[in-house]
Order: sequence, then C-alpha cells, then structure tokens
Amino acid sequence: MKGLIMDYELNVPAILRRAEQLFPRKEIVTRLPDKSFHRYTYEEFAGRAKRLASALRNLGLADGARVATLCWNHYQHLEVYFGVPLSGNVVHTLNLRLHPSDLAYIAKHADDRVLVVDDSLLPLYQAIREHAPFEHVVVIGSAPDGTIPYEELLADGDPGFEPADMDERDAAVMCYTSGTTGQPKGVLYSHRAIALHSLASAQAGTLSISERDVVLPVVPMFHANAWGFPFTCTLVGATQVFPGPQLDPESLLDAFEQERVTITGGVPTIWMGILQLLDKQPDRWDLSAMRGMIVGGSAAPRAMIEGFQRRHGLHVIHAWGMTEMAPLGSVAELVSELEQAPEDEQWAYRAKQGLPAPFVEIRARGDDGLVPWDGATMGELEVRGVWIASRYYEDDSQADRWTEDGWFKTGDIVTIDERGFIEIQDRSKDVIKSGGEWVSSVALENAVMGHPAVAEAAVIAVPDEKWQERPLAVVVLREGETATADELREFIAPQFARWQLPDRFEFVDEIPKTAVGKFRKTALREQFAGETVTAS
Ligand code: ADP
Repeated sequence: MKGLIMDYELNVPAILRRAEQLFPRKEIVTRLPDKSFHRYTYEEFAGRAKRLASALRNLGLADGARVATLCWNHYQHLEVYFGVPLSGNVVHTLNLRLHPSDLAYIAKHADDRVLVVDDSLLPLYQAIREHAPFEHVVVIGSAPDGTIPYEELLADGDPGFEPADMDERDAAVMCYTSGTTGQPKGVLYSHRAIALHSLASAQAGTLSISERDVVLPVVPMFHANAWGFPFTCTLVGATQVFPGPQLDPESLLDAFEQERVTITGGVPTIWMGILQLLDKQPDRWDLSAMRGMIVGGSAAPRAMIEGFQRRHGLHVIHAWGMTEMAPLGSVAELVSELEQAPEDEQWAYRAKQGLPAPFVEIRARGDDGLVPWDGATMGELEVRGVWIASRYYEDDSQADRWTEDGWFKTGDIVTIDERGFIEIQDRSKDVIKSGGEWVSSVALENAVMGHPAVAEAAVIAVPDEKWQERPLAVVVLREGETATADELREFIAPQFARWQLPDRFEFVDEIPKTAVGKFRKTALREQFAGETVTAS
C-alpha cells in the first residue's frame, strides 16, 4: 500500500520560494575588492535571481544547458547559483585556481554554453577562450566589447519570472573534481540532492545552521559548491557574508568581527594562517559571536583544533567530504556519552572525521572484505546515500569506483570505530607501505604539526630497497623558530612504533599546494622520492 502524501518536488526553486516568503528582510553582505561592503536583502536577491533566470531563457537556454562561472564569493555568484537552476539549466562552477589547460578541458567536456566571469578574471578567460565552447560571455564589472554586461542581462530579465516546478531528479549544478588524483571528473547534482543536502547540513549535530546565524564561507564557491553553504543558508534564511577575493587572515578576521560572524568554513591552510595571526595578536579582534569554524578538505591537525579552543576559545568543527558527495560526508561533533570522557579522548574524537551525516551510509573494505568497526583495522571507505554521485558525467573510465551493489569507493583509507566515527588515515595513493604494513601519512603529519616550531608538515612515501617504501617528512618551520630532524623525531616518537617514524626530515620554505589548498604530494614525491634511502 502506498502512502497518501503529496509528491512535492525537492528543488532549488522551492528553496528560494521559502527564503523569499519568510526572510525577505534578511541580509546578504559582500566584501568588494576595494574592501567596502555591499549589502542587500533576500528580497532583492530573489528578484535578481529571477531576472537572471528569465534572461537566460531569453538567450535560448533551456533543458539543462550548462552555464559556467569564473567568480569569487559574492552576491552575484549567489544569484547565478539560484538563477541558473531556476531557468531549468545547470550552473557549472569553474575553479579559477586550476591551470588554464585544465579549465579549457573541463569547459569543453562540460559543453558550457555561457560563461559568467568577474572582470578581474578576464585574463583567465582570455587564456582559455580559444579552446572553450562559450557562445555568450557575461561579465560582472566592466565588460569589454563582444561580451554582455551582467547588469544589462539582468535589466532585460523579468523579476516576476515563475520557474517551472522542475522534476527533483533533474540536474541543477555541476562540479568537476579538482584532479588531485587524476584527470578532472564531472559530478552532476540533482535538485533533490541539493535540497536534501541543505536540509541535513543545517540540522543540529551536522553543521547546525539556522536563521539566527551569520555565515561566512571562506571555502570558495568554485570548490564543491562552497560545501553547500549558499543553498543551506538560503533554505534557513541565515545572513550570508561573502568575503570576495580577500582571503588573507587579516581581512577575514576583520570581516568576522565587523559582521559578527557565527559560522565559517574553510580548508586547514586558511585556519593555520588565522591561528598564527591570532597567536601573535590575541586581543586585536572580538570574535565573541563565533560559534563554529568548520574545517575540512584535508585533515585538520589536532594541535590546531586544540590551539583555537584553548588559546582563543574558538570551536573548530572537523568535517569530511568530497566533490562526489555534494560534498558533506561526516562531521566530528562529540556525541553525548563522549562529553563525560577524559579530555584527551575528547580531543582525539574531535580530530577524527566524525559520524556520517543523515542519509550517508558507510563501510570500509580491506584486502579480506569489509573491515570490523574496531577503530584499528584500515580499509577503503565506501559510501552510499541521497546526494552521492552514481557515476561521472560522460566519463565511464572510472566506472570501477562503484561497487556492484552500488556503493561509491572514496579512495580514502580509514578506520571506523565502534561508535561509527570515521578516521581518515590516508588517501589510498598516499598511504606508506613499509615492510608489508601500512603507515598513515596523515597521522605522522598531524603529530609533527603538533610541535610548536612547526608551521606545516607533509609526509610522503619514498622508495626503499629493503622496506619497499619509507616515510619522509617535509617540514616548514614557523618564522624565527628552529628544530632539528632528531628533535622532531623524538617529539613524535611516543605516538608511533619505531618503524613508523620518518627516516628523513626535509626543511623547506613552502609546501606546494593544489588548486584547492591541499598538499600537492605528487610534486613532493617528484622532488624527493628520486633519492632512494635505506633505513636501518
Ligand atoms: P579532490 O578529489 O580533487 O582533492 P575533493 O575536494 O573532492 O577534491 O577532495 C575530497 C578528498 O579530500 C577526500 O576524499 C579526502 O581524501 C580529502 N578530505 C576532505 N576532507 C577531509 C578531512 N576532514 N580530513 C582528511 N581528508 C579530507
């Protein structure tokens, strides 16, 4: 017997309808390139998003045509996030930190018909235009000849545009993985995935975002939908603050203070920079409104999570996700029984990747099948759920990332404990295989980054004649600090078996990073792995 419940389409227009009806006076704030703030209301935002939708229909775009963006985080980008799906088309965020040849490949592969670009990023457009398929280029800011000024496009649109009540299974947004582990691959999110992801992200125990919050996404809107913040915040009517192109620690801290930001999110490298500045000038900013600083994208070292809380009273929330998962996978907030646990155990839990979000299911597979949830046995994490990709867009070269029974293989090597907390040990390509045992590069990095003289550390495998691979640590010291390899090895020794300790420590000025701020381990391996070492 079927239930007798309406078939209500979970789509992006429904998110906007709610925001427009219930929160018209709430604000959306953007830091402009000259550091001044632009402010307007949800009502104005909704009208402009609808104008954009109707203007795109007037351009002849319908039925899932791709509209690409090359933009920083700002209110016009938010309008595109909503206006394009409202028009029945698909918004495709291009990552402006990628190499132009990758961008051209992605735009072509996605068959992007329109590009919306910030005027400051026009040189990047020039670098790819020859190889890109765009029919129309819309420029936010001053538009050169042959392009459409964004404001003119909007002026032609209808603020009363009524979007179709599209099928929730239709595509709304597209993102390519940044290619940390190979050729970029396209993920196509449905309206339904976005609606449910927003609902689950907002709830207590996940990211816990409500109408009362003031949310500043540091994570770029060109990376994994800025972790869904634009959709989640609009659904609940939170105040949204966009930082524009200024992502240095000082500008961010100024914006946190001025706008009384309550929730923010970004990758660990951003928070490392902020922590260093706060340590130097602990009394300069009033961050008393801040409730949660979400960190994800790569492993957040425990020392950092602890440092924010102990020295500055700031609560860091560790989360894990993937482009293939819209992107939220898990969040490491303490469950009630852990609130009674010894402090050390609590920190250990907050540094894990956490419990899966609602409607995300997990399991891990080792060489001999699914591994037990014992917090010790490593295996590759597999996931399934409502907002997880079922395949890549027009690319079946990686069809083996899905199991026969329909789970997605994440490529992350994890342990899962008896409570269901995930702890990422490594990416499968980065794990160090020494003498038949696996060593977690992430665990070593976190331990080394716990040393007060260390700013950043990345651990890679280098080939070894006797052990097959051995760990090598690449370390950036904090300004004015010193530490020797022996000191660092001794510092982390209590946490590891002797054979797991790095044989070599290399000191560098900077660790190369990917377009989304992760350690570029492939570059480090090229630099250091050539020299074969033999451990005793
Ligand atoms: P790319 O695959 O191109 O790097 P993604 O941003 O989708 O782009 O990367 C997802 C991957 O990032 C995950 O599979 C995982 O390896 C890593 N990751 C994300 N969040 C965390 C985290 N909190 N801790 C450790 N690794 C993380």
